[in-house]
Amino acid sequence: MPQPIFPLPVPPLDPFWDKTSQTSINYQRDGGKRRHAGVDLVANTGTPVLAMADGVVLQVAEFYQGTWAIVVLHPGLGTVRYGEVDRQVLVRPDQAVHQGDAIGIVGKRKGSERAMLHLEWYADFRHFDTPSEGDPRLSQKQNRPYERRSDLADPTNMLRRSPVQGWPHNIAAQSTTADPARDRLVHLLKTLPFSSGKPDQNDPCLNEVK
Ligand SMILES: [Zn+2]
Repeated sequence: MPQPIFPLPVPPLDPFWDKTSQTSINYQRDGGKRRHAGVDLVANTGTPVLAMADGVVLQVAEFYQGTWAIVVLHPGLGTVRYGEVDRQVLVRPDQAVHQGDAIGIVGKRKGSERAMLHLEWYADFRHFDTPSEGDPRLSQKQNRPYERRSDLADPTNMLRRSPVQGWPHNIAAQSTTADPARDRLVHLLKTLPFSSGKPDQNDPCLNEVK
């Protein structure tokens, strides 16, 4: 398995590994009718979302309460859904991304007070080697309690072992056509003051969080 990096350039503001926190995977939703299918990495709106490893974008789609999701297949790691991102994303389907590339920014759900990256991990990528086998969709209502594809995995330990790399060194999309909205966002990402915090590249994000 390639060594993934943390998908944000800063440590999360909440302990997603704390099972008593609703940011953790498996936490009850809708009074226990379903369970949280990923972890919520709480961060400020506009924080860059980074590709955890090299990969290819499978899907960019509307996700939840006004936010979007970017699905990336990372060979050797599996498929990651980077959810609740801002609708202005930096990548398109079929595009190759490199580890550490900024692929989007953290968004905020309508009516929510806190912004976050909702991250889901699917560990079995045979779904894409043999797409005729099984249902490749990530969201599957009938699969209780997570309502997700059966290879949904707990990303907690994987994320805790992933170093916070800091400010992205690359913007993923190399647009060949004029896209003023994207250009504005790229400019914004390059000028935002994310240099604060300076996480140590060798330390897992866990150690960065008080
Ligand atoms: Zn979530």
